[in-house]
Amino acid sequence: MDCLFCKIVRGDIPSETVFEDDSIRAFKDIHPSAPVHILVVPKKHIDSIQTLVDSDRETMLSVIYGAKAIAENIGLEGYKLIFNVGRKGGQVIDHVHLHILSE
Ligand code: AMP
Ligand code: ZN
Repeated sequence: MDCLFCKIVRGDIPSETVFEDDSIRAFKDIHPSAPVHILVVPKKHIDSIQTLVDSDRETMLSVIYGAKAIAENIGLEGYKLIFNVGRKGGQVIDHVHLHILSE
């Protein structure tokens, strides 16, 4: 599939990966908008929160629990988790991703 984040998941495009397991890959945003800006991406391609179906439930849980584990591992005391949803919600890349943002 011609999807930037699928290519990053496969390792076809390099990324500054900070965490990876069977379900997710997390890597530094290439244009950080905060001192800590990490994207948590499911390995399974899902377009958007707008297109979620019931069978995506476990995948999305792994994204959220993954973000929590990453934040703990790097010692964040507080952070924002953001899903941009749809073009009008600021979503540019149509592979669902959770932004971790922190000072
Ligand atoms: P969104 O606006 O929610 O779709 O966010 C997409 C994010 O992907 C933006 O914050 C971009 O800076 C980031 N991004 C785009 N290309 C790359 C890349 N090759 N590696 C890491 N982050 C990227
Ligand atoms: Zn994809």
